Amino acid sequence: MEILRTADGLRQWSRASRKAGRSIGLVPTMGALHAGHASLIRAAADSCGRVAVSIFVNPTQFGPNEDFARYPRTFDADCALAQAEGAHIIFAPYVEELYPDGAATFVEVEGLSERLDGKSRPGHFRGVATVVAKLLIAAEPVRAFFGQKDAAQVAVLRRMVADLRIGTEIVVCPIVREHDGLALSSRNVYLSAGERAQALTLSRAVRSAEDLVAHGERSATALLEAARAVFDAEPSVRVDYIELVDWATLEPVASAVPGSLFAVAAWFGATRLIDNTVFS
Ligand code: AMP
Repeated sequence: MEILRTADGLRQWSRASRKAGRSIGLVPTMGALHAGHASLIRAAADSCGRVAVSIFVNPTQFGPNEDFARYPRTFDADCALAQAEGAHIIFAPYVEELYPDGAATFVEVEGLSERLDGKSRPGHFRGVATVVAKLLIAAEPVRAFFGQKDAAQVAVLRRMVADLRIGTEIVVCPIVREHDGLALSSRNVYLSAGERAQALTLSRAVRSAEDLVAHGERSATALLEAARAVFDAEPSVRVDYIELVDWATLEPVASAVPGSLFAVAAWFGATRLIDNTVFS
C-alpha cells in the first residue's frame, strides 16, 4: 500500500484510478485508528473501487490550549489497520504541504460553526472545513465517509459541500462503541481508570433520552432533564453541553422529531468527549 505525501500525488493517483474506471472513496482521519475508523474504511471499500485514507493531525482545528502536540500518533499501526480494512493508499501529508508558507485561505461555514462543539472550541470547525475542503479538492472522491460520532462536524461539512457545489457525497456511518457503551475515540487513551468509568455518563445520558422517546416522550425539556440527571449523579464530571437540535442547522428544537440530534459533551479531567443520537 502506497503512502502519498503531497496533494499533487493524491490528485494524480485519483485521476489515474478514475481513468481505470475506479471510483474513489475518501476516509479523512487524524490517525490513532480504532474500530470506528475501521468501520468507515470498510464502508468505503464496500461501495468504491479505490479507497484513500488520509492521516493528518490538522493543527488549525486545535485551539491554543488543546492537545495538538500530545494527540496520539500511531502511524505504522494505522497503516496496517487501514490496509487490512481495504484501503489502497494512505495520504499522510506534512503540515507544510497542506499549509504552505503564507497560506491565507480558510473555509468558514458561518453560523453552524459556532454551535455545539464550535461554541466551546472557537475556530475548530473553520479548521475542519478548511482541511476537508483541501482533501476533497485534491482527491475528488465520489464519496467521503464520516462518523455520526462527530455529528456537528457532519452538519458543517454537508453545508460546505452543498454551498461550494463540491460533487462528493457525504456518507455518515453509525457510532462504534465499546462493549459497555462508550463511543470509541482516539482521545479515550487519555482517560484514567476513574475517568473511564465516569465517561459512561455520556452514553447513559444519550440512552436516557432514547428511552424517553421510545416511550412516546418528545419534549426537549424532558429529554434534557433526564440527561442532566445522569450527569448530576457524577459530580466530578463537567458538562459542556446537552442539546436537542435540528441536525441540519444545529439550532435548538422544542421537541424531538425525525432528524433531531440529541448531543452531549463533557469533560473527564482534562479530556473532553462527545456522544449523540439521531431520532428517526
Ligand atoms: P478523527 O480521526 O477523530 O478525526 O475521526 C475520523 C473519522 O472517524 C470522523 O469522521 C469521525 O467521526 C469518525 N469516528 C471517530 N470515532 C468514531 C466512532 N466511535 N464510530 C464511528 N466513527 C467514528
